[in-house]
Amino acid sequence: MPRKMIIPAAFAAASVLALAGCAGSGEPADSSAAADGTIDVVASTNVYGDIVETVGGEHVEVTSLIASFSQDPHEYEASAADQLTVKNAQLFVENGGGYDPFLDTLIDSAGNSAPVISAVTFSDGWTGDDPTEAVEGFNEHVFYAPSVMAAVADEIASQLGELDPDAADEFTANAKAFADAIDADVTPILDEVAASHSGEEFFVTEPVPVYLAEAAGLENVTPDEFSEAVEEGNDVPPATLLEALDLIGSGDVKVVFVNAQAAGAETTEVEDEAKDAGVPVIKASELLPDGDTYVSWMTDMATQIKDAVTQ
Ligand SMILES: [Zn+2]
Repeated sequence: MPRKMIIPAAFAAASVLALAGCAGSGEPADSSAAADGTIDVVASTNVYGDIVETVGGEHVEVTSLIASFSQDPHEYEASAADQLTVKNAQLFVENGGGYDPFLDTLIDSAGNSAPVISAVTFSDGWTGDDPTEAVEGFNEHVFYAPSVMAAVADEIASQLGELDPDAADEFTANAKAFADAIDADVTPILDEVAASHSGEEFFVTEPVPVYLAEAAGLENVTPDEFSEAVEEGNDVPPATLLEALDLIGSGDVKVVFVNAQAAGAETTEVEDEAKDAGVPVIKASELLPDGDTYVSWMTDMATQIKDAVTQ
């Protein structure tokens, strides 16, 4: 379950004023045609922004609302500038599943009816009716599932093709190249790990990289109460923390993942226990690291998993 986000009532009022001010200053209010002929796309995080750029190339102008490592998507608070960006967008790409509801709130208050692609709906495990809402027991971090991102890229190509039919073939080819790059660079590493380390155990402080580790055949043995407490920003109950530390110290856990962007007392204790037990620790972020593409990032994460279990 994600941490809840609250938008203060004052924000809504402030953004209305900002928009009114903007309309008066002569900026385009019509979202149907960007001045330079490119398609304006808004993505909730730079992970999705990167995939849109890969598919859309020179035909898109992408804004990722969360692009800085200092921002935790679960705790993001939208700004008045975000509201304006959203008002002019022609396509939205979000994670969905309760991960980035701030974008849906922005879209609603902007009254923008442009299409919204919600990545969670491309996951086999998704059972929700409303793509924006969290589903109990569903891990919403689907961007760590490269096969799901390949399907999202296809949908991005199809939606961009509606907006710019002349470039539709290019979008389709770019999405295929993206999927091919995953198959060429990421999948073989995951398959190699699965071939000789299937069923080996991992622990995560938050369920961020779970889909990738499971695609490598590894098994998540984290007590549910542990990751739920951390992701909701609550203290881990002492008995649960003890259980986790025992697990890590037992020698059965082959790799520990911590969230690269959120640290807490429990995370530090888990890292210390892993170090004492000689268990490799991998830092997994919710955002695309600077200088990476989605494929290079997943290649690096898969390689770190391989190195950890084969050390
Ligand atoms: Zn998260």
